[in-house]
Amino acid sequence: MNIKKLNDLKNWMQEKNVDLAYVSDPGHIAYFTGFNSDPHERVLALFVPLNSDPFLFTPALDAEAAKATSWSYDVFGYLDSENPWKLIAELINKRVGTPKNIAIEKGQLIVERFGYLKEFFPQATINEDITPLIQKLQVIKTDDEIKTLIEAGSWADVAFETGFKAVKEGATEQEIIAELEYELKKRGVSQMSFGTLVLAGDNAANPHGEPGQNTVKKNEFVLFDLGVMWKGYASDATRTVSFHEPREFDKKIYDICLEAQLQAQAFVRPGVTAAQIDKVARDVITEAGYGEYFNHRLGHGIGTTVHEFPSLVEGNDLVIEEGMCFSIEPGIYIPGKVGVRIEDCVYVTKDGCEPFTTTTKELQIIS
Ligand code: MN
Ligand code: MN
Repeated sequence: MNIKKLNDLKNWMQEKNVDLAYVSDPGHIAYFTGFNSDPHERVLALFVPLNSDPFLFTPALDAEAAKATSWSYDVFGYLDSENPWKLIAELINKRVGTPKNIAIEKGQLIVERFGYLKEFFPQATINEDITPLIQKLQVIKTDDEIKTLIEAGSWADVAFETGFKAVKEGATEQEIIAELEYELKKRGVSQMSFGTLVLAGDNAANPHGEPGQNTVKKNEFVLFDLGVMWKGYASDATRTVSFHEPREFDKKIYDICLEAQLQAQAFVRPGVTAAQIDKVARDVITEAGYGEYFNHRLGHGIGTTVHEFPSLVEGNDLVIEEGMCFSIEPGIYIPGKVGVRIEDCVYVTKDGCEPFTTTTKELQIIS
């Protein structure tokens, strides 16, 4: 539970004249409450009234787990046989009275649930968007959050080490994924932060390629993009390795991508802008003649979710501050030939930044 962030939310509500906030995104709920859960299609909600205690509303089967976290306010569970919105309306009427101005997450709340809110609180204005506030709060991480992100990052290092060992002649992408996830699960990591990518040869030239029965071949690259969820926080890192000696052209592309990654990471410090960091990496790749093959932003924020604010992209003039955490992940994807991406997530310090993952970025040759 994060009391300070809850207070920040209440201060914002006061400013905006909002008497009830409804947080619906599970990642954002985890951020405020410490309870990290995927409710699937069921309702998981955090309600924060301006003038009384916040409460969590969860599927009944998750209520005990929610109570076992650091969350010290009320938790209400509902059974699959019950109408959650009827219960929610009763709770709100009892605890808050008749809300006049309800804030929601416009980018997250599904239309059906918005409809229930309107139905049960016909007198309320429902228009204020909490999302920009949450983005602003989340963008600066506390020391405790950074400590957890470092732990999550070190699990990604374990995954790389195990995954590299599984790179063998004829091994399929899926076999390598199975090996590394098996090792993590044996050691207590219950969840990856997204579907692990292991892409061999020119399959890596697709930045969101699907791993499958494609096999590792000599003198080709294998791209690993992976991360775990650890105590509610995500890791995300990418390494590209060579199976036996790389082809000359592939090595050249690798070196350009690495130079872009290293220069951008060395450039990060408080006071520079998100767009400037993107440009440092992009200029390296463009000047080498491959700008058109780097077809995505340089990076994204990371925290309770893999992709969050801020975006490291052209046009984002956000000024970088100490405590911000984001990925630096240039890639060069030449269809039919070769794909390389190198990614570290970092946290910004007083005068630079430190990565969450420490696996070497020098080209690893596996044989
Ligand atoms: Mn990433
Ligand atoms: Mn990634």
